[in-house]
Order: sequence, then C-alpha cells, then structure tokens
Amino acid sequence: MSLELSKKALAVKPSSTLAITAKANELKAAGQDVVGFAAGEPDFATPEHICQAAKDAIDSGFTKYTAASGTPELKAALSKKFKEENGIDYAPDQIVISNGGKHSLTNVFEAILNEGDEVIIPAPYWLSYPEIVKLAGGVPVIIRGEKSASYKVTADQIAAACTEKTKALVLNSPSNPTGMIYSKEELEAIAKVAIEKDFYVVSDEIYEHLYYVEGKNTSIASLGEEIYNRTITVIGLAKSYAMTGWRIGFCGAPKAIAKCISSIQSHQTSNPNSIAQKAALAAISGDQTCVTEMGKAFDERRQYMYKRVCECPYISCIEPKGAFYVFVDMNEMVGKKYKGREITCAADVAEILIADYCVALVPCADFGFPDHFRMSYAISVDKIKKGMDRIEEFAKSLTD
Ligand code: PLP
Repeated sequence: MSLELSKKALAVKPSSTLAITAKANELKAAGQDVVGFAAGEPDFATPEHICQAAKDAIDSGFTKYTAASGTPELKAALSKKFKEENGIDYAPDQIVISNGGKHSLTNVFEAILNEGDEVIIPAPYWLSYPEIVKLAGGVPVIIRGEKSASYKVTADQIAAACTEKTKALVLNSPSNPTGMIYSKEELEAIAKVAIEKDFYVVSDEIYEHLYYVEGKNTSIASLGEEIYNRTITVIGLAKSYAMTGWRIGFCGAPKAIAKCISSIQSHQTSNPNSIAQKAALAAISGDQTCVTEMGKAFDERRQYMYKRVCECPYISCIEPKGAFYVFVDMNEMVGKKYKGREITCAADVAEILIADYCVALVPCADFGFPDHFRMSYAISVDKIKKGMDRIEEFAKSLTD
C-alpha cells in the first residue's frame, strides 16, 4: 500500500475568499491601512440579547452534549420560523441544526448523492458548492447565468443541462456573489422542471433577510407539494444576525432526508455547540429589530457602493437586490496597462489592488467568472468610500 492521499481530498481547492481575507488580515496586523471588501462577513457585533443568551447558557451549565440534530426547543422555534416566514411546513423532525450553513450543505449532499450523480450549479456560484459536491462524490455541471439575464439561469437552461444522472440543482437566492434574486415566477418555472425531470433542489437561502427591494424572499419549497417533496432548504444565522463565528446553520427537508442527515451528523460531528444553540434560539425567537436595523445599514451601503462602481472608469455592475455583494464586470480593463503590466483578468486587478492600494477584493475565477470581481459592502460607508477612492485612482492610472 502506498502513502498516497485521498484523491477526493487532493482535488479540493482551498477557499480563495478565505485566503484573500487572511492576506488582508495579515497586512492589517502589520500596520497597513487595508480596506477589506473580500470577507462575506457583517462588521456588526452579534446583538446583545443573543450574546446574553449564550452567557446564561454557560452560567446555567448548558454545556453538555445535546441531541445530535439539535435541541428540541431550537427545532420547534425553527419549525415556527419556517412556517411563518418561509411558508413551509417542516415539523421539528424534518429539521437538522448543524455547524453553519456550509456544514448543512455538506450534510445535504452526503445524504442525497451517490458516486457520479450530477448536480447542476448555476454560475456565477458561491465557490464552495462545486467543492462540497465533489467531496460527496458528485459531479458539478455548471451552467451560466449571463450578465444580460442579470446573471440568472432560466428553467429552459436547467432543463437542457439535465441528463439521466442529474440528481440535484443548487439554487442560491439572494445570490452570493451577484446579489440577484429569483422572482416567484422564475422559481415556479424552475420547480416545474425539477418535478418533470425528478431531481432535488438544494435551496440555499442564507441571505433571505438581506433583501432590499419590495416584497420578500420566496422559498421554492413553499410553491406546492411536489416541489416541497424535492427540496431541501438550507439557511444559517451567520449573515442575518451577525453570527458568523457562532457556526449555526440548519436545513429543512422531507422526513427521510432529514433522518439521513441526522444519522450522518450523529457520527461526524454530533450536535452543534450547545451554547451557540441557545444563542440561536434567542436570535430566532427574540426581537427581530436587529435584523431590520442591520438590513437598513446594508441597504445604505449597497446604494453608495453601486453608485461609486457605476461612476468608476472601466468597471460596471448590475444593481444588486439582496445579500451584501456587488458583482463587478472588469472587461473594459482587459488589455489596459498598469505600470507597463497588461491587465488580463480580475485576478490581475486583485493582485495589484492589494499590493499597491491596500484594497482586498475577490477575483471570481473560482465563482466561474474570471472577468468579474466581488466586493462585499458589509463594511462602513467611510471604509467603502476610502476603498472606492483607491480603486478609482487605480482605474484612472491605467493606460492603453
Ligand atoms: N451559502 C452561501 C451562499 C454563503 O455565502 C455562505 C457563506 O459565505 C454560506 C452558505 C455558509 O455560511 P456559514 O457556514 O457561515 O453559515
């Protein structure tokens, strides 16, 4: 036997967003004035009442194992939340609470995929989807949402990508990295294809509350029994409640899938942190003003960043409607020169901006769009202004 490592593990790419964030933090620690547009992380502190619930959990000795799939009280609260906010009936035994949305997604794909099953992933996509699918033995099938279609895919495109091996579709609305939102009508058309072709929809709605246009997030599982039976809805608390470090995500699924996920989790990680579950309960069942207030601040930042990107030479974007990202098209920079160096893709821009302007942003090759970069507006307007001033200075310095 050789000491060869797992082929699956060797095929995994490290997360480039986390790597860029780490690089920006390194520069900050070295005293540099870095503007970080890279991290998908709210700059707000976790609301006080949520922290207090965690402190109370420690003080009352709630520090032991819980049920592997989460505490009954948190599942009951999530069941109520799903019904009231998402219009979906998930009984507590259809809900599994995990260590963040990423972990929920990992569990979901492990539960539904057999080796070689295909998963349709619309690009631009959050960079972890293909890696998580591959780790679970699946084969990502990428389809493209073009800029002219607001980076969204149509039901026809999905139908055309289906084969005998299609097991699931990943939907992410509001989207990371584009900030785009699928309408109810678009979701209905997609649901029809899922039912006809008989595949699962993994609906990642982690940005459900970060929604800046009229109306509210539509959950595809709420659109009828047949699509409900084929959908796994994944949500997490990180983005809406400024709880990135607490690591709580959850999914609602048909009973048989929830049971599989629960068994998988019982062997791999057991319960998510007991204290974080108490904090999550306070988040879900407490006053939601904090979510609205943070949402208002994000909206102000969104409008400011959108305006600045529109005003900046050689870059453009579509107005984002949700999440906290602006997805920037840099094609007009291609072929221009910076200090004699030719710009070929977004990675070149990201490299120059961090090295010479102390601005961190995410080039989107790993999101399926090498000619775009992603900028998070989960930082203050003052910082956005400083960062955009620097990007503008860079753009104006480009030559033919
Ligand atoms: N889904 C999307 C689209 C995301 O952007 C993220 C985080 O960046 C996650 C899921 C996972 O979030 P977490 O594991 O922090 O709950």
